[in-house]
Amino acid sequence: MIVGAGAMGCLFGARLAQAGYELMLVDVWREHIDAINSAGLKIETEQGEQTVKINAGTADAIDFRPDLVIVFTKTLHTAAALDSVCHLFDDRTCLLTLQNGLGNVDTAAEFIPIERVMHGVTNYPSDLQGPGRVSSKGSGYVKIYGADGQLRRENQLIAEAFSKAGFNCVLDPDVERAIWEKVAFNAALNSLTAVTGMTVGEVGASASGPLLAQRIVAETGLVARSKNIAMDEDAVWQSVGKAFAEHADHKPSMLQDVIHRRKTEIGAINGAIAELALESGIEVPVTETLYHLVRMIEQKLEH
Ligand code: NAD
Repeated sequence: MIVGAGAMGCLFGARLAQAGYELMLVDVWREHIDAINSAGLKIETEQGEQTVKINAGTADAIDFRPDLVIVFTKTLHTAAALDSVCHLFDDRTCLLTLQNGLGNVDTAAEFIPIERVMHGVTNYPSDLQGPGRVSSKGSGYVKIYGADGQLRRENQLIAEAFSKAGFNCVLDPDVERAIWEKVAFNAALNSLTAVTGMTVGEVGASASGPLLAQRIVAETGLVARSKNIAMDEDAVWQSVGKAFAEHADHKPSMLQDVIHRRKTEIGAINGAIAELALESGIEVPVTETLYHLVRMIEQKLEH
């Protein structure tokens, strides 16, 4: 079962269904569910458009016990989404979160014992084009591991399923570090584009953008190290530089959320870094300021 059938949920759902896995997409968006059930899920890739037959529904329409729940809501909706399906869980149900941000395991562990929670990170790109329609162009990786640091048979089965579905998937005992590195990247680029309305390339070409981005990456590295995570700041900074040059027109999801007047994932990204920094007695002024600025924008857009 995939809970949160947006851009990523549909990408993973489509590929797993094409590889022969039986699964259901769960969402709250009625029009999207109806489009998928009536005309199939349309997925556009470099190879053209394909239509995938897959079942979709709201949580109350489900009457089976899932072996695996993959959570792909935005982080601010995780608790509500899991609350709506947790009555279906039994003592074998496993959960995987590949969402961005920090704190996803803590939320999942409120619904399922941590021994059956897996976490990870992916950089496959995907965009929702409209009801029943996604576009995913480009490749990426998926890194997963047990959230308690243990490798179990279930982790291996999931990695095998992802590989069979065509994802570059590895079991990575150091996945926590990969998660922090993606958080550092997102904390820099998502927040700066959301606040300025600039694309990634415009931030990179501005006088102050690269300086602020570098400070956020460095601040995130400090917090990661205080939590014994050996985040590779240079590697993150190189990825930021590559994004400035190669994805200049890209509007990260946080900027798109602001444009569409939606709440963002800032709480799980800059907000979570600032909270952990406070616990460790570290100052992260740029990360924290960007967090508050995005929150102010969200509040303004609510009215
Ligand atoms: P999205 O907004 O496209 O999809 C989220 C879906 O969750 C929506 O269809 C929404 O209707 C649904 N939802 C909201 N509340 C729900 C609830 N209570 N129950 C069930 N469904 C609910 O988001 P996305 O781009 O697919 O991102 C999902 C996660 O993956 C995020 O954490 C994001 O940061 C991360 N991510 C995204 C990408 C990308 O390229 N899109 C890449 C890597 C990671």
